[in-house]
Amino acid sequence: MSEIDDGVIKYERHFTPSPALKSDQYSGLEHWRKKLYHLKLIGEYPDVFIGYGNLSQKILGLDHLEFIITATQTGKFQDLTGEHYTIVEDYDLEKNAIFAKGCMDASSEALTHAAIYECSSDINVVFHIHDNYLWNKMLEEKYDSTAKEIPYGTVQMAKAVKQIVSGKTSGLFAMAGHLDGIVSWGNTLDEAGELILQLVKKFNP
Ligand SMILES: [Zn+2]
Repeated sequence: MSEIDDGVIKYERHFTPSPALKSDQYSGLEHWRKKLYHLKLIGEYPDVFIGYGNLSQKILGLDHLEFIITATQTGKFQDLTGEHYTIVEDYDLEKNAIFAKGCMDASSEALTHAAIYECSSDINVVFHIHDNYLWNKMLEEKYDSTAKEIPYGTVQMAKAVKQIVSGKTSGLFAMAGHLDGIVSWGNTLDEAGELILQLVKKFNP
């Protein structure tokens, strides 16, 4: 167990090194990731070398929630392999704890994904992208958004996310307190992905 402290947020991380995922476990995610990477909605901020954007998909047929998510700091890579995807096998929203297994640790935003999955058993996919222009447009046009005072990766964020997502099996929201952060969720990969493509189309005609 280790703790990452970026000055504000503390995660309790439990990581079990495990073999790389097989391509049939992540090929659907990778298909959409390529599209979003191409649109620079997943990538890396060049000045500070911080990766952004993460995608996840629920593993079906289990009696508890597990999901596959892009690993931490993979935003810069054009193509991902089974080493760059990780399984979140358990988590604790109240304690801000993530239990992951794979070759690399899970994205630090995995708990936001978990909070969304908890809202409905029909939600199978969560995409988190970054884009300054789209983010500003969403806030201007009063899309659903989490409050400015709430940073990502906190218990408050998990609660705020649940308020927005609850009762909706698909949708989009902006995170006002997480610069450029936008989230879509849906029943299928295509549903979550198309919501983002429609957003791009709407504001970048
Ligand atoms: Zn983010």
